[in-house]
Amino acid sequence: MQELILLKLGEVVLKGLNRHTFEDKLLANIRRRLKNYGAFQVTSKQSTVYVEPAGEGCDIDGAFDACQKIFGAVAVVRAQPCEKDRDAILDCAKTYLREDLLSARSFKVESKRADKTFPMSSIQLSQYVGGELHDAYPHLTVDVHHPELTVVVEVREKAAYVHGHAVPGAGGLPIGMGGTAVSLLSGGIDSPVASWMVAKRGVQLEMVHFYSPPYTSPQALDKVLDLARLLVPWCGRLVVHTVPFTEIQETIRRDCPEEYFTLIMRRFMMRCAQRVAKRVGAKALITGECLGQVASQTMEAMASTEDATDLPVFRPVIAMDKEEIIRIARRIGTFETSIQPFEDCCTVFTPREDVRELENVLDVEGLVDRAMEATRYEVIRY
Ligand code: ATP
Ligand code: MG
Repeated sequence: MQELILLKLGEVVLKGLNRHTFEDKLLANIRRRLKNYGAFQVTSKQSTVYVEPAGEGCDIDGAFDACQKIFGAVAVVRAQPCEKDRDAILDCAKTYLREDLLSARSFKVESKRADKTFPMSSIQLSQYVGGELHDAYPHLTVDVHHPELTVVVEVREKAAYVHGHAVPGAGGLPIGMGGTAVSLLSGGIDSPVASWMVAKRGVQLEMVHFYSPPYTSPQALDKVLDLARLLVPWCGRLVVHTVPFTEIQETIRRDCPEEYFTLIMRRFMMRCAQRVAKRVGAKALITGECLGQVASQTMEAMASTEDATDLPVFRPVIAMDKEEIIRIARRIGTFETSIQPFEDCCTVFTPREDVRELENVLDVEGLVDRAMEATRYEVIRY
């Protein structure tokens, strides 16, 4: 029998969300993400998803890494199936976990018996396998509280499965369960993290990026596409809508007082993002704004930008410290790309209440219409 991957289902089990929708979405997402790694059979039973190689040339290492980025699973582990027989299980543990058993100092065996027809109780099975492993690897001590290695034996319907420590899964809910939102993706550290956090709640994202040639370089745009590429293993296929922003910015600069430039510009970003949201059926906007992080990110400023859209604006990193945001950026793999020094079309702004009036001199609709007509998109696939 071939080594396989087990994913443990997350929150659905606890929360009683619509379980079938959850599982179906998760299975579909796993199948789609694993296509590049060979033919796998993906099934689920008793809060566990089984990812089994179904043919030659499956890249199980690649599939295992990919599985850790699929929202909806709380734990992921590689396991070796074997016959449902105590000695077959023991042999399997001895050989499959040999390296781990040799390098650990303490261990315990934990058995789960989903197949109630199995002739031993979980405790009997653990004691048997634990005792024999102890004889085979006499350097080990048994530690039931804080073992370095936990040998897990799961006796299930089709087979018994032996594995060591599971690694954390991505958590959250399967993409596609929570509707669609438009995320404003800059090249910075915060917006990729904000996007990821909302995607984690099962939301399908559409990305919007504003760029202002010739003020911003083609490399700055490439960097944003790179960030989207890094998010795809987590978020699934992404469409990045690139909105040319030069005319809008030049017009604001010409016709509005300088101190309102950034605020008015941000209101235009909201309007354009809302247009994209309407096009794609998205129900919310996401930004990487963080309270007090820069002078522009005050409650007043946010109230003023929000006023330019009817959609709810989600700001998942609003109350996080930079340190915390960076920790997530590192974990999800966007940090190194985010800190590459390319310019963004944003600068600091001073909020005031009367910006709506100031905008009256502008052809707001015309400007937004033209930007949207010239908006292009890139599809970033897994
Ligand atoms: P980030 O690290 O995400 O760039 P920031 O701390 O630099 O955030 P701002 O530059 O003020 O903050 O931008 C706040 C938010 O506005 C960003 O998190 C992002 O959601 C959005 N935003 C800024 N610039 C752009 C852009 N060029 N295209 C799309 N969205 C943008
Ligand atoms: Mg920024």
